[in-house]
Order: sequence, then C-alpha cells, then structure tokens
Amino acid sequence: MNKLTIKDVDLKNKKVIMRVDFNVPIKNGMITDDTRIKAALPTIKYAVDEGAKVILLSHLGRPDGEKDPQYSLKPVAERLKELINVPVYFVDETRGEKVERAVSQLKNGEILVIENTRFEKGETKNDPDLAKYWAGLADIHVNDAFGTAHRAHASNVGIAKYIPSVAGFLMEKEIKFLSAANENPQKPYVVVLGGAKVSDKIDVINNLLNKADRILIGGAMMFTFLKALGKKVGSSKVEEDKLDVAKTILENAKAKKVEIVLPIDTVAAQKIEAGAEKKIFKINEGIPEGWMGLDIGPETIRLFSEKLSDAKTVFWNGPMGVFEIDDFAEGTKKIAEAIVNVTKKGCISIVGGGDSAAAAEKFGLAEEFSHVSTGGGASLEFLEGKELPGIASISVKKN
Ligand code: AMP
Repeated sequence: MNKLTIKDVDLKNKKVIMRVDFNVPIKNGMITDDTRIKAALPTIKYAVDEGAKVILLSHLGRPDGEKDPQYSLKPVAERLKELINVPVYFVDETRGEKVERAVSQLKNGEILVIENTRFEKGETKNDPDLAKYWAGLADIHVNDAFGTAHRAHASNVGIAKYIPSVAGFLMEKEIKFLSAANENPQKPYVVVLGGAKVSDKIDVINNLLNKADRILIGGAMMFTFLKALGKKVGSSKVEEDKLDVAKTILENAKAKKVEIVLPIDTVAAQKIEAGAEKKIFKINEGIPEGWMGLDIGPETIRLFSEKLSDAKTVFWNGPMGVFEIDDFAEGTKKIAEAIVNVTKKGCISIVGGGDSAAAAEKFGLAEEFSHVSTGGGASLEFLEGKELPGIASISVKKN
C-alpha cells in the first residue's frame, strides 16, 4: 500500500484528530450493537499507547445539519469509556470555545469525543472553513472510517488539506483486501452478486468483467437477467428498464470469456411473508403469474457451491434471497457456507458490507471470511474501479 498509516508517524505528545465510524444503532438512548465501537478500538488504543492526545470525530445517523439530541454521540462516548482503560471525555459541541478548552485540557493518552459531525451543515458539503477548524485542533489526522470513504466530507477529506492524514488499522485492512481483489486477484476469481437491484450493480459488474473469471448472480436481480433471456419469471421483481443493460452485460461477458452463472431454480411464494406457502420452480419451466421468486432453489445452491469450490478469490455482495425472513434465507446461508468452505482451503474471501455483512452476522459466519468490509457503498465503489475521495485524501508514502 502506498499510503501512510498510523504506524508511519510519530504520535508522542501529538494531538491526533481521528475520524472513526461510530455510526451505531441506538434505541431510546441505548446502543443496541456496539460492534463498530469495538472495531475502532485497535487504532484508538494504539494512538493512546503511543502517547497521543486523541480527539475522535464521527457521524451518527442523518441529523441533516441540525443539533438533534437523538443523534448525540454521548452514549457512544460512555460505551467507549467502559471499553477502554483511559479517561474519555465528551464535549456536546462540534466547534467553539468549549471544544477548544476540552482539547487544551487533554493530557497524553487521553481521549476526547466531539459531538456528531453531522450536526454541522458543512460536514457533508465538505465546507473548507469547517475542515480547517477541525484541522486546527490537531497535528495529525487519522482516517479510520472506510464506510464514508466514498463521500468527500469535511471530517474525512476536507481536513486532509490542512494537516497530514494517515490510515488507521481498519482503513488499512480494507484497502489491502479490496486492492488485492481489484489489482491482482488469485485465480479463479469468483464473484457472487445478489440483492435487490441490477441498477445498483451495473458499474461494478462492468468493471468485474475485466477481472473476474466467474460471476454468480442471485437475489432479485437474477430475474432481470432471466427475463432478458426470455424466461418466464411470473411476478418476481424485475427492472423492466434494465432488460437491455442485462442483455448487454451477458453479451460483453461472452466476448470477454467471463462465465455468468444464473440460477436454474427458485423458491417462490405469492407474498413476501413468513409462513407463506412456498413452491420450487425450475427456471426452464418458468414461474407462473402470481408467484415471485424469493430465494435461489436447491439445485442452484448445488450449482453455485460447485462454481465456488475451486475459487482462490471470492467477492460477495448482496443476499441470494429475502434472507431477513427465515423461509427465504436458505440460499444466502448455504452460499455463505460454501464461501467459508473455500476460505478454509486458502481462498481469500471478501464480503462487501451492507446486507451481505448483516447476513454473515445473522448466520454466525462473520469471523470465517478473510475480510468483511465495513462499507457497503464504499466497497462497491472501490470494486467499480473508482477512486474513493476518502482514500485519495490519505497522504502518500514517499520513498
Ligand atoms: P441490496 O441492498 O441491493 O443488497 O438488496 C438487499 C435486499 O434485497 C434484501 O433486503 C433482500 O430482502 C432483497 N432481496 C433479495 N432477493 C430478493 C428477491 N428474490 N425478491 C425480492 N427482494 C429480494
């Protein structure tokens, strides 16, 4: 990696402003899942142990530039205090005298959490005055928030114009794994795509046609491809305006000798509901009107598992079916297991955040993959081959 990381800079006696991802779910002022806080601990602890004064910045939810108490980072600061053995202070402002006083009172090895960055209108607009202000509080910026790397905001990108910006450990790991898949994947490179919409995945598929050996397509998006091939898909979810795009993708794949593998059967129901009557239909025989495919079927699970069995690199984004409902979760679970199986044989497996990461969690498999990305949108844009502003802004290693 040609980017500076937190290990490349001297942190002793330095004020370090660190952009982390503390965007955790909160209900009635209680954190319901603290995974993201725990995930940020290694980088925070490292800075503390090196003797830095650590100032933490994060967004939480979408308060849209308003000071909205339900999105306060206070509960997060309190949870952090329980998880780390050093003083953690919280200031309920994003700038001004109170913030400056708290920073000036901070001792080496202590932590200050500043209020939600998105209480500032200028945060998502990458306002230069705001970025300069935050930069003025510190000597070094550490960027450990991969989930926002596809956005140019003041706290991750703007700030890097004024002080050096280095990657934290989470960011470093994301860049390492996603670059490995994008730049020199071990072959066969098998990609598994699912989820709701083809339209979200067009750019990534087009880029992957130059890198992958095989692309397996499940989820609702499979039906747009199947309909483009003239199959009867009944009442399954189809993006009618993307049929031509799907056709072009299939033609380009053929020309580039990338194998696109589509489902051969589906588990269908008449309603997207737990307990609804289910039937398995073979794609070649067609799905009757009134029935919608909500998961891949058992033969497809077998086919996809076989297509995964020799993989040396796997990227998986998007569930194979409506995995939130147990009746339609089998396909996603079995494919996740098939990816775990090849991982055990030395394949590098990357789960692309969002719903696929949630599915991996749900099945208790998250620890079994080589890497579960913390950024759904960011990891997709990375694999689209785009330069992410929140990575471009990190200082380059010179030597
Ligand atoms: P995405 O955000 O694009 O990854 O899409 C994830 C969503 O797609 C999940 O909420 C799934 O329930 C949904 N999904 C997956 N397969 C299907 C399907 N066959 N029909 C309808 N929705 C689906």
